[in-house]
Amino acid sequence: MKKIAFYDTKDFSQSSFEKYRPNDLSITYFEHKLTPDTVASAAGFDAVCIFVHDIVDDTVAKRLAAMGIRLIALRCAGYNNVNLEACAAYGITVTRVPSYSPPSIAEHSVALMLVLSRHLVRAHARVREGNFSLNGMVGFEMHNKTAGIIGTGRIGRHAAEILTGFHCKVLAFDPYPDEELRKNSRIEYTDLDTIFAESDIISLYVPLLPSTKYMINDDSIAKMKQGVMLINTSRGALVDTKALIRGLKTGKIACAGLDVYEEESEYFYEDKSDGVITDDVLARLLTFNNVLVTSHQAFLTHEALQKIAEITYNNIQEYFAGKRGHSLTYGLCSQCA
Ligand code: NAD
Repeated sequence: MKKIAFYDTKDFSQSSFEKYRPNDLSITYFEHKLTPDTVASAAGFDAVCIFVHDIVDDTVAKRLAAMGIRLIALRCAGYNNVNLEACAAYGITVTRVPSYSPPSIAEHSVALMLVLSRHLVRAHARVREGNFSLNGMVGFEMHNKTAGIIGTGRIGRHAAEILTGFHCKVLAFDPYPDEELRKNSRIEYTDLDTIFAESDIISLYVPLLPSTKYMINDDSIAKMKQGVMLINTSRGALVDTKALIRGLKTGKIACAGLDVYEEESEYFYEDKSDGVITDDVLARLLTFNNVLVTSHQAFLTHEALQKIAEITYNNIQEYFAGKRGHSLTYGLCSQCA
């Protein structure tokens, strides 16, 4: 029986992982994150399983290796929180779930668009207060709007297809265009500057890499249409949040839907309602009535949770059976490449 330490778990993750747990794995669910301060809690386990806010830097990788732990199983797609070079240097295999349910994230991004375009959060708050006024609530149709999709991988491709169903004109940019998507007459690949200049809605579906960090910044915002909607369900640091706030203050950006925030790890998934938000940038974002923030929940569907559990367990079992799984450290598997 292999013993696995799961970090940063919540009720929803514990119940889905218990539901699909194979008999040959024993799981201990920690609520705390894996960090340099908590890595000692991994002692005695055969592997660790982590999520988006755990931190595997050089120190953590070295300590895990010293404890004899040679497998870090990510139960998410993104791995910007893991120092892969350090893991490889210490002989640690890192696996991930490269794709679990792209529709979950794509649909959430479109949900943000619809809620913002029709002021639904304000509408809900108003009627609950007995305020049935429509002042300030004029929305816009998605029909015939131009939606700019940045990144047409698994999730962006699905979002682009959903938006064609709304009869949007979809402009797309990706350094590696999807040839199937290109055949759709409502989707046109173009360059980033054209997307910035012509889109009514801009939505991001790219990984966080040194080359994509702050791709939405003062310069790119300056190139956008007046009154654009910005959606980010990918990774917080794709957007320079202070630049976004400047754009919102001038009205250049009419509204923003954010499922991710660059400094989210201290707040997202936690109940902070009894305390004070000390992050002034996040606090400022939350003051805008045209900004909708969700707590990195785009993946949170029954369908995605089932797939995440099954693929994570499969990666762990394959590793202990001497196979590679969706490994990031020893040559990318075909789905990860
Ligand atoms: P993917 O790897 O399938 O697709 C990413 C695409 O981005 C690729 O086609 C790649 O060529 C393209 N790309 C890379 N650099 C680019 C650039 N500079 N400009 C434009 N395109 C670029 O990834 P995916 O599974 O579609 O995930 C997309 C994003 O969604 C990732 O950031 C991932 O971490 C995030 N995500 C968020 C959640 C959530 O719950 N919010 C869940 C899963 C994934």
